[in-house]
Amino acid sequence: MLKYLPTIGMEVHVELATESKMFCSCANGLGLEKEPNKNICPVCTGQPGSLPVPNQKAIDFVIQAGLALNCQIASQSKFDRKNYFYPDLPKGYQISQFDQPLCGRGFLDLEVLPRQGDKYEKRVGITRIHLEEDTGKLLHDKANGETWVDFNRAGVPLMELVTEPEIASSAEAKAFCQQLQLILRYLKISPADMEKGQMRCEANISLYPRGGDRLSGTKVELKNLNSFKAVERGIEFEISRQAEILESGGFVRQETRGWDENRGESFSQRSKENSNDYRYFPEPDILPLRFSNQEIEEIKRGLPELPWEKKRRLISQLGLKPDSAAVLVSAPEMADYFEKVSSELENWLSEEGREFSESGKAKLNQLAANYLITEIQRHLFSKGLSFEKINITPENFAELIKLVYEKTINSSAAQIVLEELFLRGGDPSQIVQEKKLAQNSDVGQLEKVARLVMEKNPQSVADYQKGKENAVKFLVGQVMRETQGSANPEAVLEILKKLLAESV
Ligand code: ZN
Ligand code: MN
Repeated sequence: MLKYLPTIGMEVHVELATESKMFCSCANGLGLEKEPNKNICPVCTGQPGSLPVPNQKAIDFVIQAGLALNCQIASQSKFDRKNYFYPDLPKGYQISQFDQPLCGRGFLDLEVLPRQGDKYEKRVGITRIHLEEDTGKLLHDKANGETWVDFNRAGVPLMELVTEPEIASSAEAKAFCQQLQLILRYLKISPADMEKGQMRCEANISLYPRGGDRLSGTKVELKNLNSFKAVERGIEFEISRQAEILESGGFVRQETRGWDENRGESFSQRSKENSNDYRYFPEPDILPLRFSNQEIEEIKRGLPELPWEKKRRLISQLGLKPDSAAVLVSAPEMADYFEKVSSELENWLSEEGREFSESGKAKLNQLAANYLITEIQRHLFSKGLSFEKINITPENFAELIKLVYEKTINSSAAQIVLEELFLRGGDPSQIVQEKKLAQNSDVGQLEKVARLVMEKNPQSVADYQKGKENAVKFLVGQVMRETQGSANPEAVLEILKKLLAESV
C-alpha cells in the first residue's frame, strides 16, 4: 500500500474561437497562422497610446462555458493587469482577471475508468473561470543563436479554468481534461486541440501521508502537458518522483516543472512566484463589466445540447443502449451522422406506412449504431481516416441498415456492400443486385441442401438428437458453405431444427 497519496488540481487555458482577437480587430488565427506577425496591430503589440476594446463574443463564450460547468456567473466583473516581464509579452503585462472572474464555483461530473478496477463517477469542483489574452511566441534559432518573436498569438482570447484540488489520480485528471474538451467542442467555443496548443493543461500536484491532511503537501506545478497521454504520464511521473523524495526523508521543493514527453520525465523550470509578484491592479482602460439576470438567462437559453443531454436523448427517444450512446456522444461527428441515419430510417418507416412499435424503432437504431461503432470505425481506422472523412451518405448507410434489418442480406454480405461503398460509393440495393448478395430464404431449395448436409454428417445429427444442441450450429455452417454464404442463416436454423425433429 502507498504511504503517500496525491492531491491534484488542474489549470486549463483554452484559446477561444472568436473571429477577432480579445482587445483589437486583428484576425484570431487560433495559433495556426503560418506567416509570422501577420495578424498584428498597435493594440496587440502594445504600442503607446493604443486602447483595448473587449471582445463581447469572447465574454459570452466564457459565460457559456461557466453555465455548462454549473458555475455561478458573476453579476459584476472586471479586467486586471498581471505584470511580468517576458519578451513574448509586448505590453509588459497581461490583461487578465484577478479578484472578479466571470465565473465562480461550479463542478463537472466525470466517469473515470481507472487502469485497474471498475468505472466510477466523480464530481470535480471548479474554482473559477476567467478571461485573459494569450501571449506571443518565441522562436529559437539555435543554429544562429538567435531568437525571433511572432505576435500572431498575442491578444488571442484565452479562457483560464482552475479546479479545486479534488483530483486523486492521473486517470481522474485525464478524464477531466477529456470531458472538458468535449464540452468545449459541443459549445463550439474552441476546437480545443491540445497538440495545436488550443487547450493547455497544467497540474498542481502535492502528496500527503495516508490518513493525513489532504492539503498538507508542497505543491509542484507541472507544465507542457500537450496531450491526454502527457497529462496521464506526467502526473504519474511526478507522483512517484515526490513519493521517492518523501520516503527517503527529503522535502519536495515548491517549483514549476516542465514535462519532457520524449524523455518521459519532468525537469525544474523555476521556483514558483506567488500572486504578489505579479502586482495585479485593475485595468484602467476597460470599464468594469455588469450582467443582468436577463442577459445571463438569454445566454443560457442559447446553449446547445450538451453531451449528457444528448446521451439521455439517444437512450430515451431513439432507444439506444447506454454504452452505445456513450460512444456516440464522445465522438460528436459520429453522433451527428448517426442522427441523420436515424431520421432516414424513421422516414422510411413512415413512408412504408408501417405500424411500427417503439421496440422495432429501437432495434433499427441500435443496429445502425452497432454498424457505425464497430464496422465503420474499423474501416476508417484501417485506412487511417478520421470520421469526418467518411464518404458514405447517411441515406446510403440507412439503406444498408434497412437491407440487413429486413434480412435481405446477411452480415457477411453487409461487409461486402460496406467495403464497396467505401471504395466506390454507389447505391446499396444496386450493389446487392450486381453482386448477387441477397439472402436465399427459399424454403424448398434450402430444405434440399439441409437434407444433403444431414446425410453427410450423421454424427452431428446423432449428437443433436442425444441433446447436444450445439451440434446444429455445425450443420448450419455446412449449409452456409454449400450455398456459398447466400443462405439466410436464421431460415436454415429453423429448417434444420424441423428436419432433425422429424428424423428422430
Ligand atoms: Zn491587434
Ligand atoms: Mn493564465
